[in-house]
Amino acid sequence: MSTAIGSDGDPPVSIVIHSARRELELTWADGTVGHYPAHWLRTRCRCAQCTAIARTGALTAGVSQTVSIIGCAPQGRYALQLTFDDGHDRGIYPFAYLREIDPARSRE
Ligand SMILES: [Zn+2]
Repeated sequence: MSTAIGSDGDPPVSIVIHSARRELELTWADGTVGHYPAHWLRTRCRCAQCTAIARTGALTAGVSQTVSIIGCAPQGRYALQLTFDDGHDRGIYPFAYLREIDPARSRE
């Protein structure tokens, strides 16, 4: 087990799904806390299906603003698989990708 901290590929130390706020909260080893709205994550899914839809520019419009996260399954030490209440469960979100798309870091 690695004791190194601060690497963007490391798993979060805490994963909480806030159903009422439709938000995923991740706490990283360096103390950073990321708040990820479900819609934000859903529209950043990188599965083949969503990537193809995103290429047409229709992914954001095609996802309900009230989409929720109903499941979250760690994939080894590198990623989270998220299940959304629109039935979509193909999204694998590598930890490094989640850090990259932290809404607090993104300025869109
Ligand atoms: Zn997808």
